[in-house]
Amino acid sequence: MTSQDLEKLTQLLKEEEILARKELGEVAVADPASGGFQPIPADYEGDVREDDIAREATITETNTALEQELKHHLEAILKAQEKLKTGHYGICEKCGVEIPIERLLAMPMAQFCIDCAG
Ligand SMILES: [Zn+2]
Repeated sequence: MTSQDLEKLTQLLKEEEILARKELGEVAVADPASGGFQPIPADYEGDVREDDIAREATITETNTALEQELKHHLEAILKAQEKLKTGHYGICEKCGVEIPIERLLAMPMAQFCIDCAG
């Protein structure tokens, strides 16, 4: 991996992080107590009919699922950034081989080589 590759990957991860945080902000609110995120609860304000309640419950459920997914995504990005700093980046966490640069450029937060990911 060249220093140019590293620079490019650092930039890609930064962009991924910004995007993930933005998406997470749409389905979840930051929870300062845990340092994490909480799904945005559906809004029950005012008089709601029963079908409204059902609809809002569905929104809350969807937000919770999305929030989980995005949170894992963000964690993978942060982990990759940490590994870039410590020089452990681009090594498959399962078998220890170097992950091909093409794969990393396509998916900078990849933790496994293609064989292990499959
Ligand atoms: Zn592997």
